[in-house]
Amino acid sequence: MADLSLRTCAAASSTTSDNTLANVRSALGLSPYWTPRAEFDETQTRASVWSQLELNDVYERIGGTVTSRQVERTDSDGIPWTATEITLTTDVPGVGTVETFTDLYDGPAEYGYRDDLPVLLALAETAQRCPAALPGNTSPCDGPVAVLVLDAQNAGAEGCEHHAARLLARLDGGRPVALPDAPAGAALRVFTASGDIRRGESA
Ligand SMILES: [Zn+2]
Repeated sequence: MADLSLRTCAAASSTTSDNTLANVRSALGLSPYWTPRAEFDETQTRASVWSQLELNDVYERIGGTVTSRQVERTDSDGIPWTATEITLTTDVPGVGTVETFTDLYDGPAEYGYRDDLPVLLALAETAQRCPAALPGNTSPCDGPVAVLVLDAQNAGAEGCEHHAARLLARLDGGRPVALPDAPAGAALRVFTASGDIRRGESA
């Protein structure tokens, strides 16, 4: 009997991809009309959502493992930029491994950024972060360690550009020094970003 029911299950799940689509839509809370768009790197078992708020909704509903990676994207003018993509990997019954992903937005809170979302807290727990990452901030690194941030006493911490800028913004008399293999302009970008962060926090 056990044998027979197993065979029936296997046959049922392989008959059509419609079942997979329906299961993925319902597990992730997607629209009943959602179909994967190859141009956005989607498949039947890999769906993008608008922002980390929507990703957090999925995480709070079905859980999973949260990871991040750097991806090269091109904007509508053809200019390349680097995004931090967050991926939630979940085992969906009847389907298998399903990925939900979005690009991290870590701009000002007034435009919707929150670093206290459970999905970002989970990411901060699993992700290896650079030494410049402040404990109170959950954002992932935005690239390799590129800059040494020195304080007024020349004590320093190395970090990715994202975390180096946040650390520098906390220091009085600090300065960024590019590491030998840093991309061109790294120290200047960190310096400029830290000024923006200071102004944002004092505003
Ligand atoms: Zn970092």
